[in-house]
Amino acid sequence: MTTKKPAFPNLFLALVLMVSSFSCSKTEDPTTLPEENTTVPDVYKKIYGASSITSDGTYITIKTNGVPDHKSPYYPTNNPLYEAYSGTTFGGYTFAKNPNQIATQSFTFKIPVNPKVDANHAATPLGVIGLALNGVALFNQYAGPNNQALTGEIASFDKYYGHPQNTGQYHYHVEPLYLTTVKSTKSGLVGFLLDGFPVYGPQEESGTTVTSSNLDAYHGHTHATLDFPAGIYHYHFTADAPYLNGNGYYGTAGTVTR
Ligand SMILES: [Zn+2]
Ligand SMILES: [Zn+2]
Repeated sequence: MTTKKPAFPNLFLALVLMVSSFSCSKTEDPTTLPEENTTVPDVYKKIYGASSITSDGTYITIKTNGVPDHKSPYYPTNNPLYEAYSGTTFGGYTFAKNPNQIATQSFTFKIPVNPKVDANHAATPLGVIGLALNGVALFNQYAGPNNQALTGEIASFDKYYGHPQNTGQYHYHVEPLYLTTVKSTKSGLVGFLLDGFPVYGPQEESGTTVTSSNLDAYHGHTHATLDFPAGIYHYHFTADAPYLNGNGYYGTAGTVTR
């Protein structure tokens, strides 16, 4: 008993310190700004291929494994989503498989929760420029450095119009047909570019087909959509080049790490 006694004041002190530190952390400092709203807006929950979606109030952070949820001849043959394909693909080309195979990625996208126009309209880089709702990467209209035309690559798009590059990153340069015909519609939301502006399919909600001539130099325009009834700038996939993005991001791009 006597040997245990000295432990009590210490334990009590520890409890007091714990309780006071908890209450301190809860005390609002009147000189700081109110806490950011870290609720993830509903529209981002449409990114069904994400393993996590969080917000710090400034950026939405989306993690995906980058692999398609639909069949593809680019999956290893022992994968349940492997399916051989022959026939025509985008633009009427006869499908010709490239030598690459789909590999699991570890993407972390950070896109601004309040996208803003950026007068610099930075050029989109080669590689990942955005994400589709199934977590797959979106690429721009070029096949390689110095604005190499995509033409030679189009024949290797599978029946849902995606293909993997040499490290196994599966991606869409053009309308992701699985999303616009199975998961959403031709006028539905299909993804976001890194600048946070949404990407829609090749039709308006009225059913009108959108072509590049209906869009600005960045391949978008502004009007209300079902997801953004107050109106928002948005990109459209079109059947004609540049398919998704033109002369750069409309807004300030966030980041993607892999
Ligand atoms: Zn490609
Ligand atoms: Zn539109």
